[in-house]
Amino acid sequence: MRTAIFGDIHANLEALEAVLEDAASQHVTDYVCLGDVVGYNADPAACLNLIRDMGCPTVKGNHDMDASEDYSLDSMNPVAATAMKWTREQLDEDQRLWLKRLRMVRQVGDYTIVHSTLDQPVHWNYVTNRFDAMSNFSYQFTQLCFHGHTHVPRVYIKSDKVREVPAESVEIEANAKYFINVGSVGQPRDGDPRACYAIYDHDSNLIVFRRISYDMETTQKKILEAGLPEMLAERLEEGR
Ligand code: ZN
Repeated sequence: MRTAIFGDIHANLEALEAVLEDAASQHVTDYVCLGDVVGYNADPAACLNLIRDMGCPTVKGNHDMDASEDYSLDSMNPVAATAMKWTREQLDEDQRLWLKRLRMVRQVGDYTIVHSTLDQPVHWNYVTNRFDAMSNFSYQFTQLCFHGHTHVPRVYIKSDKVREVPAESVEIEANAKYFINVGSVGQPRDGDPRACYAIYDHDSNLIVFRRISYDMETTQKKILEAGLPEMLAERLEEGR
């Protein structure tokens, strides 16, 4: 069994399609989505439909929540608020209901998935170092937990203490817990503009991170044509 674990798609259809194509070429058998299907980029409906049709386990991201509710966006930063207002207009009632019904945390087989952290999933805390990861581990009852939200791939391991190792290829060892951020498909922020996701090979106990180039020019063109903030197109090529 080989599972592609991907999240923070953010309505980037070209990146999502490239990731799914790569996963198929890597003989992936299962798919799991860590949320933030929509928000920022120009293809929220198409990305949502694609993932909904796949029927894979999916958890709710903060942008999925914002897009499925009608509350005010005044407290958001102006660029995100403009994009979210536009995103809400692109989705029909069924699509918004699908987002609304997504769960915050799910157990899939013997591992857990969450968009941000397990300690307070609705607070959408950002885990950027091993100290942030410590609070998550107190609530992690499976050996593996996958998450996203920061758009930066990271691997935290808890044995006697919590440490961080490079997000490349990780062999799962007994007597340790793993809290793994699989990075972002549609808006990476670690300086590498390529789409990011991970493949979990259950038989060999190996997790491998993948970086995939995609047709970013088309994504950027769609952002500008939709009248979304220019900065959203620019940040894609910077990977920030
Ligand atoms: Zn996100």
